[in-house]
Amino acid sequence: MHQLPGAWQRAARGAGLLAPDGTSVPTIFAEMSALAASTGALNLGQGFPDEDGPEPVLEAARDAIARGVNQYAPGRGFPDLLSAVAEHQKRFYGIELDPQREVLITVGATEALAATLLALIDSPDDEVVVFEPHYDSYAACVALSGAKLVPVPLRWPDFQPDLEQLASAVTDRTRVILVNDPHNPTGSVFSREVLDEVVRLAHRHDAIIVTDEVYEHLVFDGPHVAIATLPDAAERTLSISSAGKTFSLTGWKTGWVTGPADLVTAVLAVKQFLTYVGGSPFQPAIAVGLRLPEAFFASVASEMAAKAALLGTGLRAAGFDVSSPGGSYFTVVDAAPLGATDADAFCRELPARAGVVGIPLTAFVSPAHRAQYATLVRFAACKRVDVLAEAAQRLAAMTPA
Ligand SMILES: *Cc1c(COP(=O)(O)O)cnc(C)c1O
Repeated sequence: MHQLPGAWQRAARGAGLLAPDGTSVPTIFAEMSALAASTGALNLGQGFPDEDGPEPVLEAARDAIARGVNQYAPGRGFPDLLSAVAEHQKRFYGIELDPQREVLITVGATEALAATLLALIDSPDDEVVVFEPHYDSYAACVALSGAKLVPVPLRWPDFQPDLEQLASAVTDRTRVILVNDPHNPTGSVFSREVLDEVVRLAHRHDAIIVTDEVYEHLVFDGPHVAIATLPDAAERTLSISSAGKTFSLTGWKTGWVTGPADLVTAVLAVKQFLTYVGGSPFQPAIAVGLRLPEAFFASVASEMAAKAALLGTGLRAAGFDVSSPGGSYFTVVDAAPLGATDADAFCRELPARAGVVGIPLTAFVSPAHRAQYATLVRFAACKRVDVLAEAAQRLAAMTPA
């Protein structure tokens, strides 16, 4: 056995993936995807689409390779993509950005989040406030940065935070308030009151707001409200998004950070030593995507809303209590009406009982807080309509425990 230094343990423990004997355990996503593969169950676990993105965007990447866009991009990104991101922020949110100073291209939202946290965290006394459940990389990155994670619970069935709990979580030790809206894994879209309170608290305690808006074009009753557009928010907000979810191109790993020039430059200072840059030919292609007409973006949201409705019908027919997502790829259900007491065990049985795979919500919650989510399961609706229709049929015909 090798004697390994502590950083990987910090990340694994932060993500709740460290076994008591100090070994790391596989993520529930890997485990459930393997179960789907071995049983032939439909995989509504992991959130990736099973259809390719828009043809003009795919064609632009092929064309970029043919044109010889195959060497390192500039550290901040190709000027044309920086401009396309700035144009997108102006078109959808009315936000004015200097593309050369206030935009940075990253290797997906994941690298943007990691570099942002590593750039902003100053000491082990710093705290990062996040809503829980949360995307799995948050806890690991906060742990790697050395800061303390301060979770604020989102509760079934609407998954909005309690404003008093939020207010008491934010203190002068809070360096970052990290807000994922629309929200993975719950599918919630935060109310205007919640977003206003985040901005008010950030001002009062001099914290920086970091947003994860990868589902910005998947709000079912739009438009999406970007926190940076709220009064007095832009000066202390770093907004993160990515091409993956909007364009069904999760494998391209192209994202961006926008915000005040000094903060963006701080993120660049870290990012350049993580990856330097991502894949060059994807950048001109994403610029094409970001400039697609309004109709494309409207269809992204309406198609996902229809898919979520189709999945919801099957889930209700199966006997689950079903929450109503406001956006994102995901729908959360309560399996308690079906006799479940432990969603983890329930999800392990589900392939045999229904031929479908879901993910227990506890996978997105720190071990100490899992009890209140014990019977909740997340399903992904970002699959082809025929796959969702088949899943709905299978769920409706689910065999009893
Ligand atoms: C998918 C996802 C990401 C990762 O985005 P990439 O661009 O693939 O790195 C980040 N945050 C949330 C909430 C996600 O669902």
